[in-house]
Amino acid sequence: MATGRPGRRRRAPSGGSGYPRAFPRCRHGRSEDGPANTGARPRSPLPGSCGAALPWRHSRRSTCRSTPAAVLTASAAGPADRDGQGARDWTSARSMGLFRRMGDVASLTIRRPDDWHVHFRDGAVLKEVVPFTARQFGRAIVMPNLTPPVVTTAMAAAYRERIRAAIPAGVDFTPLMTVYLTDGTDPKDLIAGHSDGVLTAAKLYPAHATTNSAHGVSEIARIEQVLAAMEEAGMPLLVHGELPREHIDIFDRERAFIDAVLEPMLAKFPRLKVVMEHITTAEGVALVRRHRSHVGGTITPQHLLYNRNALFQGGVRPHMYCLPILKREQHRLALRQAATSGEANFFLGTDTAPHMRHLKENACGCAGVFSAPVALQAYLKVFAEEGALDKFEAFASLNGPAFYGLKPNEARITITDTLSPTCEAVNIPGEGELIPLFHGEQVPWSQIESA
Ligand SMILES: [Zn+2]
Repeated sequence: MATGRPGRRRRAPSGGSGYPRAFPRCRHGRSEDGPANTGARPRSPLPGSCGAALPWRHSRRSTCRSTPAAVLTASAAGPADRDGQGARDWTSARSMGLFRRMGDVASLTIRRPDDWHVHFRDGAVLKEVVPFTARQFGRAIVMPNLTPPVVTTAMAAAYRERIRAAIPAGVDFTPLMTVYLTDGTDPKDLIAGHSDGVLTAAKLYPAHATTNSAHGVSEIARIEQVLAAMEEAGMPLLVHGELPREHIDIFDRERAFIDAVLEPMLAKFPRLKVVMEHITTAEGVALVRRHRSHVGGTITPQHLLYNRNALFQGGVRPHMYCLPILKREQHRLALRQAATSGEANFFLGTDTAPHMRHLKENACGCAGVFSAPVALQAYLKVFAEEGALDKFEAFASLNGPAFYGLKPNEARITITDTLSPTCEAVNIPGEGELIPLFHGEQVPWSQIESA
């Protein structure tokens, strides 16, 4: 991708780290309310914002809703600016063809990106959340942790049909399917599913690591035949990299997994293609770099935007709870450096994970951040803050396909740095509502159009 002026080098208030200086104090005051646990869902005020000042709030305003349609609402960027600075940007933009800045408005044209880690769930939730991802991304790796999990090629094929039925008319989107490895996975079914084009990859969840992972693999030794077959076939293994043991601190479980499971596994299968999903630590970044010939890493927006303080800003923040859990600041900075480095082994994977609001705001709340409605915006915020918009296309649109051995999407999109309307809850008929990332806030880079 061409480089040039990387765009508006908007720095976060903390002076470069991108981490917000001041957090709102929670005035919601309803954490004890019965309704959250009895199915009644308080409608206002919403705890995502609690009516207080939020970081990165902008002064520009617009009105509409955070729906797939709104996210895509388009209006052409204004005509060329007249000041000298803008004119210089415009000249360089013509030569690079990708980044443009016209007056106060910046825009970026890139190949249509892909999301290499999504959770669509099933049923009513699936119908409502698929359009968010389908409108922003050309393809997505769909994780198989349903109840019951997707454990065979036939189940993955059936799930793919349910996803296809939820794609809005006229939207070009391809779900890439995975199966959930268990101690009993049949390598023949797996490899046949891969060579038939039904399965793109298989997902390894250590038993009890995250949502619906009770069926996960208890010991790597039990799936060695499967891994050997995958290595032979060139089928990628996607790994949830945490060691969920009672005696291991929750903040150390990724590092423990790398040492106890992943390094020995990579030593045993030196040609196995592995994606360490949602890396959250400096050790995860280092692991990917050490094994760059066959290991990739996806990075979520929340782990780039927040450190673990976000879980406890003025009170417990259930919508910031995900697994792997948010980590210390030093890890967030390492992730930001990796994502914006342009290195081929790091790519976009949101891990968007919808859970109904009443199951998040609960005495035992579910893990997962629902980021699909604002996925590209969240990443672009990070890349703009880091002055690295020229590296965004690699991270979002090129590195992932290259790792998976696929062509990048031909289509292009243009994203304009326009503030969104306030990001609102998403209603799931008969189920309740989902609280997305940036709920109650306006987000930049909200105007996305086919180029
Ligand atoms: Zn996930």
